[in-house]
Amino acid sequence: ESLINRIAAGEIIHRPASALKELLENSLDAGATSIRVTVKDGGLKYLQIQDNGCGIRKSDLPILAERFTTSKLSTFSDLSRLTTYGFRGEALASISHVAHLSVTTKTRTTTCAYKAHYSDGKLVPAQPGQTEEPKPCAGNDGTSITIENLFFNTPTRLAALRNTSEEYSRILDVMNKYAIHNPSVAFTCKKAGSASPDLSTPSGSSTKHAIKIIYGRTIEKDLLETRVKEDSKKTEESWSADIHFTNANYQAKKMMFLLFINSRLVESQRIKRALENVYTGILPKGASPFIYLSLKIDPRSVDVNVHPTKKEVHFLNEEEITTRICDVVQEKIAEKSH
Ligand code: ADP
Ligand code: MG
Repeated sequence: ESLINRIAAGEIIHRPASALKELLENSLDAGATSIRVTVKDGGLKYLQIQDNGCGIRKSDLPILAERFTTSKLSTFSDLSRLTTYGFRGEALASISHVAHLSVTTKTRTTTCAYKAHYSDGKLVPAQPGQTEEPKPCAGNDGTSITIENLFFNTPTRLAALRNTSEEYSRILDVMNKYAIHNPSVAFTCKKAGSASPDLSTPSGSSTKHAIKIIYGRTIEKDLLETRVKEDSKKTEESWSADIHFTNANYQAKKMMFLLFINSRLVESQRIKRALENVYTGILPKGASPFIYLSLKIDPRSVDVNVHPTKKEVHFLNEEEITTRICDVVQEKIAEKSH
């Protein structure tokens, strides 16, 4: 059974960056305004995320890393979340099957924090011979989650991920993108022991400012932005898009495309290629744009058969929405060049 669980977990947690993505989304869901990540050996040895969100109740700790736990938690109130793309209650469970997972958390209503350790979906003692009961400890409001020795029990997976600097740059890439999408939240990412963070954004910032901090002034000063909104009587046909994209002046080496659908970082080859086409003929050969697109659609129109961790996404009226977005981007660039 544990082997099957490990294989299933590996489908969800491919590498340190995919674990981090899940944890980031949990922290954002918890209403955090500050998220700090510390990494050792590309996240394989150690990956910690600290937030100042709502915290987890002590009574929820025993079932926190159970599969499909979300609906059983006492904090769970919004049933629609269950059918919402991205909530499956599998992330912490999966991580606990392929790593040592520990959680320190404090809600505003308690005087101390609690620390719990998990393995294979269950609470376990911190040390052999101790009890698995969460232990009271000092701590600030919010949650700190630590993953140690990721894939220690799946040696083949571990062997495939030997390049720790590659894994670290993937982590940083995910952090950068979420920081752009959540400019009101302060993000920090650093290697353990390093004095200077590799990412540091303030809270209460704007999208443009976050782009400037992370991707630099040359991109930021060339940015155009626009918003498309489509209202329909049928809610599943209503959608909106916020787009920040470089004007033809700026030429990146590789197209940088950040796509968020309902605040989840995803990939869509269709949208990507369509946008690339918009710039063909505008940019010289070998030059590429920067595009950040935040699309909000009815969660029911996202294809739920595609597992949320498979980043490639499909949704209702994909073609129509893609065409509208491309038209608007094209118009805006044309407008500017006159
Ligand atoms: P899901 O996010 O799909 O519900 P997860 O396994 O990612 O499943 O998380 C399980 C539950 O643990 C969440 O629903 C949430 O209630 C709680 N949780 C996880 N991380 C945090 C956090 N950083 N702050 C507050 N609650 C959290
Ligand atoms: Mg989650």
